[in-house]
Amino acid sequence: MKILISDAFDPSLPDKLVAFGEVTDDKNRLAEVDVVLVRSKTKCTKEYIDSAPRLSLIVRGGVGLDNIDVEYARSKGIQVFNTAEASAVAVAELAFALMIAVPTRLVEGHLGMTRREWLKKQLKRTELMGKTLGLFGAGNIGTELARRAIAFGMRVIAYDPFLKSHEAVDLVTMDALLAESDYISLHVPLTAETRGMVNTETIGRMKDGVVIVNTSRGGCVNEADMKAALESGKVRAYATDVFLSDPPAEDSPLYDAPNVIMTPHIGASSRENMLRIGDVVVRILEDFAHQSA
Ligand code: NAD
Repeated sequence: MKILISDAFDPSLPDKLVAFGEVTDDKNRLAEVDVVLVRSKTKCTKEYIDSAPRLSLIVRGGVGLDNIDVEYARSKGIQVFNTAEASAVAVAELAFALMIAVPTRLVEGHLGMTRREWLKKQLKRTELMGKTLGLFGAGNIGTELARRAIAFGMRVIAYDPFLKSHEAVDLVTMDALLAESDYISLHVPLTAETRGMVNTETIGRMKDGVVIVNTSRGGCVNEADMKAALESGKVRAYATDVFLSDPPAEDSPLYDAPNVIMTPHIGASSRENMLRIGDVVVRILEDFAHQSA
């Protein structure tokens, strides 16, 4: 079996894979390989898949499969897997950090200090305790964030029409989520329904001064509408790890919008998570090797 590691995985991974066959990171050898390991950078489009005639397995180290034409791959008999649960803690910790950075005024306080400005009187704080957090999507990451928010004394509600019940949060309608949440955090996949779901119309149904956190996909938010809502003060802050493209375009509306906190798509990038992803990749390859034997 020939395995192409196409994106950045933990440096320990190649050694763990040699038991399965030849391992390469040379993307020019795509036509020769049976297995491709990707994260989000490699786009497995129809053309990409067509240029890999021996390909039988694509493994996405991470969650979202929006960089892979899954339907086309499966129509060609190629198996597609992700490492679904591995990243939940890493992303939830970042979502929590982005959320708590807003009421603690962490970024403004720090940036003031780097300019030798003592903003003690200007930086009025609020607390998370007693506030309502609304989750769009209560799967693996949403659930881990909910646990952390509940530990901080927040009430947590979620809109997730695919769930009948949830162990930790109250499932509510989209209307209720928009109307009742002080903080809204996105944990949905990017689909036809979720693309642009945070826009002028849905923001208009939210509380004045709502804080929106996004560690799902940049495409779930209409960034121009978000900029307008930040400028008007309707949205108090937008804290995001994800953008329409990685990195955002030079003219992204977010660069000069007020009250934005941005991280460069590092939700899944903890050292611990990279090791967990590697372990799941090995398990998937073990199963694949058994099937092929
Ligand atoms: P998950 O599949 O466990 O949970 C997603 C939840 O969203 C599911 O419960 C599903 O029912 C729900 N959902 C789907 N469509 C919906 C809709 N239209 N409205 C409301 N809910 C809907 O996935 P997860 O592991 O929690 O990951 C969520 C997303 O986070 C991924 O799809 C990915 O895009 C993103 N992600 C980002 C990073 C990062 O680095 N920032 C890392 C991993 C995942």
